[in-house]
Formats: sequence, structure tokens, C-alpha cells
Amino acid sequence: MQSETPTMYDADETDAQAPPVRDPSTAMDGRGATVNVGAVTAARPEAPAPAEAPESVFEVRELSAYYSSFRAIRDVELDIPRNRITAFIGPSGCGKSTLLRCFNRMNDLIPGAHIKGRVNYHGVDLYDSRVDAVEVRRRIGMVFQKPNPFPKSIYDNVAFGPRVAGYRGSMDELVESSLKRAAIWDEVKDKLKQPGTALSGGQQQRLCIARTIAVQPDVILMDEPCSALDPVATLKIEELMFELRTDYTILIVTHNMQQAARASDETVFLTMGDDRAGYLVEKGPTAEIFTNPRNQLTEDYVSGRFG
Ligand code: ADP
Repeated sequence: MQSETPTMYDADETDAQAPPVRDPSTAMDGRGATVNVGAVTAARPEAPAPAEAPESVFEVRELSAYYSSFRAIRDVELDIPRNRITAFIGPSGCGKSTLLRCFNRMNDLIPGAHIKGRVNYHGVDLYDSRVDAVEVRRRIGMVFQKPNPFPKSIYDNVAFGPRVAGYRGSMDELVESSLKRAAIWDEVKDKLKQPGTALSGGQQQRLCIARTIAVQPDVILMDEPCSALDPVATLKIEELMFELRTDYTILIVTHNMQQAARASDETVFLTMGDDRAGYLVEKGPTAEIFTNPRNQLTEDYVSGRFG
């Protein structure tokens, strides 16, 4: 595989007629990665039944992340299964957001931030110097804590990414399908020209999810996406996450343990040592982590005795 030149290594190889969208089965081998939206949708396999052992989208090996000389996380070993929701929990400051940002090289944007170790994405080292970080962030999208629609119309918020990528298909159809997929179409279809910022917080967050979906990612990273939302809006996002996992792999950082318990398939528990470096204590199926954890630290945390 490494002998081929993966598409992500060279954005110039992409088809100018359409944004480079992924086919999960061939996303990184440079032969089938750049295909049109219709083809990728048709080719997308069904999500495996929960009982089957899913393939890994990410393999994290001996990962440490630093801000200059400060080590924020250390020696993380982790596989992230495809078409699952994986939640990251742990006390504030243990490195959950830092770890999440390692999955799409978002930390690269922070001066002094660097990593040691490996993050493999479909078998390719994301931190290989030949990998195009912009293409990485298109395939591995991110939804932030505070909804951050652009100061543009609802329509243009969704169309922005595909336009930048040179999408030449029907933009109206792409906007509509993305808004539908993010479960917000019915609420906005009659006011697409109105500013995205005029929507409620929960609607803005679903608009941001539509914006992420519009560039056809493979993975969606969510950093406390509900912390600014009321309980009803939170529930809508959680329901949406479950629908989206048919097509996407979702990683979510949450400080809300109830949310992790009800809205994820897998849970990763991190804590931090005396040096304040976060480390992975335990990972596993969410039900197991919350009802029958193997590690005392996990038990103390999920039962509310610590953190
Ligand atoms: P969590 O998401 O679990 O609350 P973070 O990943 O935000 O934890 O932070 C982990 C550690 O890294 C903390 O000690 C925090 O102060 C530090 N940190 C986070 N972001 C930065 C940054 N941009 N520059 C320097 N240190 C940072």
C-alpha cells in the first residue's frame, strides 16, 4: 500500500469536477479515492451489525502529544472501530480534546504543538510528511463545542466547502441532501437565504454538522458538541449521531457521562498522572465501561467518586 501514492498525499491529483470524496474501501490507495458523490454513496457498504468485529479506521500507537515541552498525553494505544460512536471521557485537562485533535491534525495549527508516535488512518500514517493536512481535515471533519456557522446564509454555509473544493454537481441537491442528513432540512427549507447565525443553538449545531457532511467526510470528530445546548437540542444531536454512524465513524469528547453512556458504542476513559500528562486507563464497549469496568480508576470515575 505504501508503494502507491495515496490521494491524500497530493491534493493536485484530485478530480477538478468534484470534491475529492472518499470511498472507505479504497480511500487511501490512490486508485479509487476520487470519485463522484453518487458513486461513493452507491458503493458505501452497510454498517456491520454490532456483533461483528468492525475494522479499525484509526490505529494509534505510542502516541504522545506535546505543547512545546509540556506533554499533554502520553503513550496512547488505541484502535477506533469503523461505523461506531466512540466517546472519550475523563477529568478536565486530561487531554481528551488534545487527543481528538490528533485524529485530523488540528493540533498542527497550534504553535509548538507536536506529537510522537503514530496515528494510522486506514493504514496510512497521518503524520507522514507527504500527507496533505488540508485533505486530512476534509476526510476527517470536526464539529466544535460552540456552534460556529459562518456569517453567511444557511445555504452558503453548506455550499462553502464543496465550492472551495471545486464541486461542479448540482449544489442545490448537495445542500438539500446534507441538510436532510443532518436532520434540519424541514426546519430551514423555507429560509435557506437567511443567515445561519439567526438559528437557535441546536439548529446552528446541526447546520455545522450539515456543513461537515457536505464535503463527504469519512469520520466526524465532535468536541463537546452539546455543551452549549439545552436538553432537547442535545437529545436531537444524540439521535442524529446514531443515524449518522451508519455512514460515518464518530468520535466524541464529552464531559457529560450520561451522554457518553447513552450516546456511544465504545468508551475510552483517560485520566492524568502527577506530571499532568493524560493517559488511557481503559477502553471498551460503553455498557461494560459503565457497569463493569476492569480498572478501579474507571470505576471511581464513572461512579462519580473522582473527577
Ligand atoms: P481536556 O479536553 O481533557 O479538558 P485538553 O486536551 O483541553 O484536556 O488539555 C490537556 C492539557 O493540555 C491541559 O493541561 C491543557 O492546559 C493543555 N493545553 C490544551 N491546549 C493547549 C494549548 N493550546 N497550549 C498549551 N497547552 C494546552
